[in-house]
Amino acid sequence: MSTLMERDQAVVANTYRRFPVEVTHGKGSLLWDTDGKRYIDMGSGIGVTAFGIADDAWQAAVTAQLAQVQHTSNLYYTEPCVALAERLCARTGMSRVFFGNSGAEANECAVKVARKYAAEHKGPEYNVIVTLENSFHGRTLTTLAATGQEHFHELFQPLTPGFCHTPANDIEALEALVAEQKVAGILLECVQGEGGVNSLTKAYVTAVAALCEREDIVLMIDEVQTGNGRTGRLFSYEYYRIQPDVVTTAKGLGGGLPLGAVLLSDKVKDVLGFGDHGSTFGGNPVCCAGAVNVLDRLDDDFLAEVRRKSVYVFNELIKAEGVRSVTGMGLMVGIETVRPAADVVAACRENGVLCLTAKHKVRLLPALNIPWDVLKEAVTVLKNACKEG
Ligand SMILES: *Cc1c(COP(=O)(O)O)cnc(C)c1O
Repeated sequence: MSTLMERDQAVVANTYRRFPVEVTHGKGSLLWDTDGKRYIDMGSGIGVTAFGIADDAWQAAVTAQLAQVQHTSNLYYTEPCVALAERLCARTGMSRVFFGNSGAEANECAVKVARKYAAEHKGPEYNVIVTLENSFHGRTLTTLAATGQEHFHELFQPLTPGFCHTPANDIEALEALVAEQKVAGILLECVQGEGGVNSLTKAYVTAVAALCEREDIVLMIDEVQTGNGRTGRLFSYEYYRIQPDVVTTAKGLGGGLPLGAVLLSDKVKDVLGFGDHGSTFGGNPVCCAGAVNVLDRLDDDFLAEVRRKSVYVFNELIKAEGVRSVTGMGLMVGIETVRPAADVVAACRENGVLCLTAKHKVRLLPALNIPWDVLKEAVTVLKNACKEG
């Protein structure tokens, strides 16, 4: 009898470098493998299981909807989809929401909104989308074009044309690009996740927002990873005191079920009309019921607790032996270590803590409700792993 790892390697596409852990089940921030070993989950499925594994309240919301109707298509109205859109609009000041199933699809939709808006307001030659170097926006051919990392592009040419990349935090470079290209929209992550957990400066984001306003460029914020409480605010752009035209989100929104959303401001809320866009699964009632539960629990007190946990993690790690720097916001943390990040992650795994990497850093994206004692246990293991070797 071959192991699960061997069976997977034989028949599942070889696109992931998986860690050698066969997960059977979990609860909250704990996971167990086929050998019965317990792990603390400091990655939450790459920032997806916002309230941990098999959370009771989330599970109740999902199973209640599952027993009613699991899918209708977008030809009919369902309560969870409307309830979720109402909440997202009320919490952000946005005007409409388009639902899809993933982050990449959310960004695809945003690009369509920006291009159609520009075509109608400035002319179809205004079709360039500007993104940042070192960004990550997804794996489809269009969102790969948006992703400012050449190594993702190499073997998949031609990508969708009309994308330009500019260095982060360099407003002169962006202004020069806008002066020479016919720009429809700018798409940014306030904290680059896959790129190494790097935050944009407040001065830069404020200047970008002013430039977009002045030039009537659609400002799109990619909150796929940073959204839904991850940074200690509902959305990370709130820290920058800007009001984007479009916000894309996914990952943590569904609490573990596939769900993406595109939030549209008043300015662009009617850009897409009948037949302009669609998704068979988008706004699925089971996924939306889970997301309503997630959003309703991300209240001010809860977000304040996320920020307190963040302060604890930053303070502990910044002074730890073997740690060069700590970056990020809220419970989205990048740690530059003296040892190679992969070695630190492997040592943590041996000792029952599952962490992620981002570029050359160790990355943490724990469940937002990780209990204090579990968090402290994980930080202790991580500090030991940073100092060894
Ligand atoms: C994960 C991620 C995406 C892609 O999301 P998928 O759901 O994998 O398509 C896009 N943008 C950012 C910032 C991400 O972190």
